[in-house]
Amino acid sequence: MVKVAHVQLCSCCGCLVSLADTYEKLLDVLNSIELVYCQTLADAREIPECDIALVEGSVCLDDHHSLEVAEEVRKKAKIVVALGACAATGGVTRYCKGNQMSKPVHSSFSPLTEVIKVDLAIPGCPPSPEAIVSVITAALNGDMEYLQPFAEFAE
Ligand code: SF4
Repeated sequence: MVKVAHVQLCSCCGCLVSLADTYEKLLDVLNSIELVYCQTLADAREIPECDIALVEGSVCLDDHHSLEVAEEVRKKAKIVVALGACAATGGVTRYCKGNQMSKPVHSSFSPLTEVIKVDLAIPGCPPSPEAIVSVITAALNGDMEYLQPFAEFAE
């Protein structure tokens, strides 16, 4: 059974909604995966060891907890996936410096890919449910040829 975690950093939850939209298609692979962590579904405190972590949102550089979560997920997950534009390239949070969205709590954001080593990145704001399912299925099947573009995008 492949252990999958969903981890949320500074995000709008849109990626999670897109992930939820995959559920019907994920039925095909549900016998192969176990959702071991999802802050939105349960009051989970510590990220467990897992095979795949889907991480959405940017890292808030002036928030130690955000940085700690990013580092913890790298230690605990065999495959870290930057889910969506915020985690992959910064997305809308690229434009949050100094404006009303970022103040007064956070003033600086960075995409996950610039804070820790990320193995795969799924673009889109939000990423399409089809893309999420395709990447998870390819990872389950070890289809490295299909995953190659997502790995390059993560570099
Ligand atoms: Fe929200 Fe888009 Fe960022 Fe996902 S990529 S957290 S949908 S703003």
